[in-house]
Amino acid sequence: MRLCTLVSGSSGNSTYISDGTTSVLVDAGLTGKRIEEELAGIGVSGKELSAIFVTHEHNDHITSVGVLARRYGIPVFANRATMEYLDSAGILNRIMPENLIVFENNVSFICGTLVVKAFPIPHDAADPVGYRFTSGDVSVAVSTDIGEITDDIRAGTAGCAAVVLEANHDIEMLKNGPYPYPLKKRILGSHGHLSNVSSADYACELAGKGTKTIVLGHLSEENNVPELAFETVKKELEKRGLLESCSVMLAPRYSHGEMIVC
Ligand SMILES: [Zn+2]
Ligand SMILES: [Zn+2]
Repeated sequence: MRLCTLVSGSSGNSTYISDGTTSVLVDAGLTGKRIEEELAGIGVSGKELSAIFVTHEHNDHITSVGVLARRYGIPVFANRATMEYLDSAGILNRIMPENLIVFENNVSFICGTLVVKAFPIPHDAADPVGYRFTSGDVSVAVSTDIGEITDDIRAGTAGCAAVVLEANHDIEMLKNGPYPYPLKKRILGSHGHLSNVSSADYACELAGKGTKTIVLGHLSEENNVPELAFETVKKELEKRGLLESCSVMLAPRYSHGEMIVC
């Protein structure tokens, strides 16, 4: 399995996942042109894509879902509530109905050679999900935009070789930062975003269950610093003796990250 974040953060999110036969995107939250540029940067043509999976309807995840699906004639996968939102927003115009594929959360299904499971995540959207992709006996997962870690997230990500995990904010930076109080409250809430310390804690849990690579993603521009997120998670893994079995890396905000092969 290969996994690579193309962009990650409040200005856009998209992750490339492939088992060499079936290649997909999780979200397309930037212009089609920019996503294609980042794909080209990792040696992938948009023509190789088999599907786009949507986590939730926030703008930073859906900007070019329709554009890319039309351009390459590939299906869009989402659960009912998210698909209905995309449809009502006009994003799915001129996509063949058979290319709009609605799934049930927590029920595995097939996409090409991949087994896919969408798991619910606590976030302020219609019916947001994270994704687990399995090929052979290797799984990877994408889990960002999560207010807190839940049993659904644990079930969805446990045992994955690589996980894109949110490390959105430093709690003190957020509290002392420029955001208005209601927005701070939203981000800190159980349906907001995951802090660096919560991310560090869960990274340790994942590492304890065999995860080899954790990619920290969806970092806030206002309320986080990449080095701080990285150090917070790395130190916690180190403290618990898990750094030898699990490596941590950062998903860059505006360009593709490292290609992870597992
Ligand atoms: Zn969101
Ligand atoms: Zn987001």
